[in-house]
Amino acid sequence: MQTTALKTSKGFDSLNLIDPLCRAVNDEDYSIPTPIQMQAVPPLLEGRDLLGCAQTGTGKTAAFALPILQRLIENYQPAGHKGVRSLILTPTRELALQISESFEVYGRYLNLKQTVIYGGVRQEKQVKALKKGVDILVATPGRLLDLYNQKYLDLNKVEVFVLDEADRMLDMGFLPDVKKINSFISKNCQTMLFSATMPMEIQRLTKIFLNDPVKVEVAPPSTTVDKIDQRVLFVDRENKGALLNTMLQDEAIERALIFARTRHGANRIVRNLSKSKIKADAIHGNKSQAARLEALNKFKTGKVRVLVATDIASRGIDVDGITHVINYELPNEPESYVHRIGRTARAGAAGMALSLCDLGELGYLKKIERATKIPVEMMEDHIYHSETIASKRGRSSSFKSRTSQKKRFYGPRTSSRKNNRSPSNRIRRQRGRPSRSRKA
Ligand code: AMP
Repeated sequence: MQTTALKTSKGFDSLNLIDPLCRAVNDEDYSIPTPIQMQAVPPLLEGRDLLGCAQTGTGKTAAFALPILQRLIENYQPAGHKGVRSLILTPTRELALQISESFEVYGRYLNLKQTVIYGGVRQEKQVKALKKGVDILVATPGRLLDLYNQKYLDLNKVEVFVLDEADRMLDMGFLPDVKKINSFISKNCQTMLFSATMPMEIQRLTKIFLNDPVKVEVAPPSTTVDKIDQRVLFVDRENKGALLNTMLQDEAIERALIFARTRHGANRIVRNLSKSKIKADAIHGNKSQAARLEALNKFKTGKVRVLVATDIASRGIDVDGITHVINYELPNEPESYVHRIGRTARAGAAGMALSLCDLGELGYLKKIERATKIPVEMMEDHIYHSETIASKRGRSSSFKSRTSQKKRFYGPRTSSRKNNRSPSNRIRRQRGRPSRSRKA
């Protein structure tokens, strides 16, 4: 293991990070910085603004967290009563918690104060933490604005401002709140904006928010993560449940994230799976915050092998070791498809995306293939295969199945993944903490 340690310190040393940060990434067994970390850390350490166009799972959190931590410790000054020194805005509660946990992990050898605030829970604890002042505040826009209007925090002294997943903020209708928050922050502060895609509205936002930014792009917008093995299974709508059950009998599917279009649909899938004794949980907006976190935690720790999610709820899911993303229903937007399948094959590992496509969804499949410029290979070796749908889709040779010779039907091409290595789980294991869901 000495080689890993040497490689790690060399890789991150080249970024001019201070020793406590190198030690923290070393503890995480990160051998080399990811491309976005290589490109973003040096200009951020120089204090530049940054526009980051990055796919999910690229290591983007460390790319901004490490330079922020370094800046906060090198120019240390107490945050003061209700003061906030760095603010990270992110669209969902789950994402806010994960970013906060990453700060905890990367900053474990620094003595900086941080807290996380989000809606859906009582505000008292959050207010108490804010009163003392914090070096790092991770927040969702609604609750932040709410507490700001109640005068529980002071944004005058913010030195670094991060807007994460800006395109999601747009989708979820948060842009007016975000603009308002930005107007409370000093124009001199260092600002970073990250977005997986760059629609016009986000491009306009960058002009208001950023001052001569460095542009870092680790993959062009709407590109499928190329490590993902994508397949489509043609099946009549009424057979989807049965097909899913048979698929999940395959042990190659170690940890699966299943996407449903609606909340009711997600619940129905969980109920059907439980009839076949397949343990599954659902995560969607109708569930309480505590129930969502509990489901996520059970999935992360491997107590539940299958998690069923809707698109919005899936935003914050950063779980390593998802071997399969299953689209029970295809999304009508190619961008959602790209986001969904990006939940597997994270941090350089391989993964598989399986889409169940009925006749009515053929148009969505075409749109996806047109946008990603990758034909999705058909998998026909299952008893619910619909020849009618397959022939409607067209029998171009590039779309034909090559899976029939495969022994492990649903296994990805490679399986070099570490088990459950997210910073959050690691820190929890080390500290022997109870699951977060019980605290929420
Ligand atoms: P993110 O894109 O920030 O959500 O990161 C995705 C995953 O990559 C997280 O589980 C991180 O723990 C992991 N990760 C971040 N940086 C590295 C690195 N340099 N080497 C290996 N894994 C990393």
